[in-house]
Amino acid sequence: MTTDSSFDVIVIGAGPVGLACAIEVQRRGLSVCVVDKGALVNSIVGYPTNMEFFSTPELLEIGGYPFPTSGYKPLREDALDYYRRVAFAENLPLRLYERVLSLEGEPGAYELHTNLGRMQTQSVIVATGFFDVPNKLNVPGEELPHVSHYYKEPYAHVGQPVIVVGAKNSSAKAALQLARAGADVTLVVRGPALADSVKYWIRPDLVNRIAEGRIKALFNTTISAIRPGEIDVVTENAPQTLPASFIYALTGYRPDYSLLAALGIDTQPDAARTPWHDPETFETNRPGVYLAGTVCGGLNTSRWFIENGRYHAAVIAAHLAGQAAPILPPVLQPVQL
Ligand SMILES: Cc1cc2nc3c(=O)[nH]c(=O)nc-3n(C[C@H](O)[C@H](O)[C@H](O)COP(=O)(O)OP(=O)(O)OC[C@H]3O[C@@H](n4cnc5c(N)ncnc54)[C@H](O)[C@@H]3O)c2cc1C
Repeated sequence: MTTDSSFDVIVIGAGPVGLACAIEVQRRGLSVCVVDKGALVNSIVGYPTNMEFFSTPELLEIGGYPFPTSGYKPLREDALDYYRRVAFAENLPLRLYERVLSLEGEPGAYELHTNLGRMQTQSVIVATGFFDVPNKLNVPGEELPHVSHYYKEPYAHVGQPVIVVGAKNSSAKAALQLARAGADVTLVVRGPALADSVKYWIRPDLVNRIAEGRIKALFNTTISAIRPGEIDVVTENAPQTLPASFIYALTGYRPDYSLLAALGIDTQPDAARTPWHDPETFETNRPGVYLAGTVCGGLNTSRWFIENGRYHAAVIAAHLAGQAAPILPPVLQPVQL
């Protein structure tokens, strides 16, 4: 029944988990298409340029393909190349730079609406991650062009005063990289200390750079306003104005709840605003519509990551094909970014 716009299953999101789902579905003889609003593995494309994964390569593998790397931990570029090779090796039908907007129709006869048209499908797997909606500071000036929620690399900031907001791994790594590249870095942290989740191989480096004054750190401090060239902060003692040519607000991300609503997926009233899904099958309140990967955790974005989210693929594909659920490895500890 496959035509250019009619599939048994459509996967929304060409991230590692979306690709894993498409592979498992296709291997069970169902027609599948992967739709992404951006590039292949768009979130990883957006990660810091020289980013090193926390996970070792075998924990990021999908479809049973080995992920060889020269180092102990893969770099962003290694992962980009790996997932591209896997997608091509499996001949996965991809529709990139096409944004899903909503889902109409009935179970078994759904119509997926995108910015480029409509597609017919029996089932949908939503693997849209969390990287597209940053947690905002909600202060005046946040929309100015020298404020970003995404850090790439330090070289535009040599000799410049740069503010990094946040206390977790992403902020810690960005602050260290910026300082080493010659930026004048101030780390602004809302709480009294760095997050416990900062990795053991990153923490001492940052603590020592703060101790020697190479990175300034303001704890118990929040930004109250951003203007071109400077910011206002509220500290324990008194308000201050700090020079700031650029602000990296690395305060985390959240799933796109407006998209989930447009797909007809309910949200639970828990603190994590968990999108409703059966934990055994990952099917949502909308029959034939499944969640996979990071999006399953709602605001708890460290609950599911590549290492453990990739296993959703076989569970969902088995359910779609009417097969017994596979036995999964033990649940892994959350990764904090
Ligand atoms: C800096 C950093 C380091 C990390 N390191 C690790 C690590 O070492 N190990 C690990 O396991 N995890 C790590 N993670 C987490 C991991 O990257 C994510 O958990 C992973 O990307 C989740 O995969 P996913 O397929 O669920 O979602 P994503 O990779 O985020 O993919 C979601 C896709 O959905 C697409 N999409 C969203 N909305 C739409 C729409 N409306 N229409 C069409 N497409 C849409 C997006 O463009 C995107 O390509 C790290 C994350 C970050 C930020």
